Amino acid sequence: MQTTLSIVKPDAVAKGYAEDICLRIEDSGLKIISKKQIKLSRDQAEGFYAEHKGKPFYEALINLMTSGPLLVQVLEGKEAISRYRKLMGDTNPKKASPGTLRHDFAESIDANAVHGSDCEESAIREVTYFFPNK
Ligand code: ATP
Ligand code: MG
Repeated sequence: MQTTLSIVKPDAVAKGYAEDICLRIEDSGLKIISKKQIKLSRDQAEGFYAEHKGKPFYEALINLMTSGPLLVQVLEGKEAISRYRKLMGDTNPKKASPGTLRHDFAESIDANAVHGSDCEESAIREVTYFFPNK
């Protein structure tokens, strides 16, 4: 069993896609074991994406992540990290395969609807970041 952190980003929440995205997650066999809707402060968003500080897209990323409410969730299942990454699709929605969350719900590489942890170490860090008692 593995856990991973999922975020429905503010662009997708604002468009009313959160519920559909949660249904897709559950249909894929992953279990949502924690869930909360929050709005990130600049400090929270910068702490979460510290690894990207200095990259050309960093400012746009922080602006998007603080632009409105988002949904953070902990997913559980066998191979949850890679299975959820596959369900999300390519970072760039234009390259994502049909049926993936980013193909179906995202509009651009900046506003790409969802986040998922990329390895076990980030999953632990990210779950603890939003759910310190987990
Ligand atoms: P995430 O971490 O959000 O799950 P990812 O692991 O697929 O996405 P990362 O390389 O970690 O991609 O980048 C984090 C986020 O930064 C991306 O989801 C995207 O919103 C934004 N991003 C990444 N690369 C670019 C880029 N070249 N141009 C604009 N935005 C980008
Ligand atoms: Mg990433």
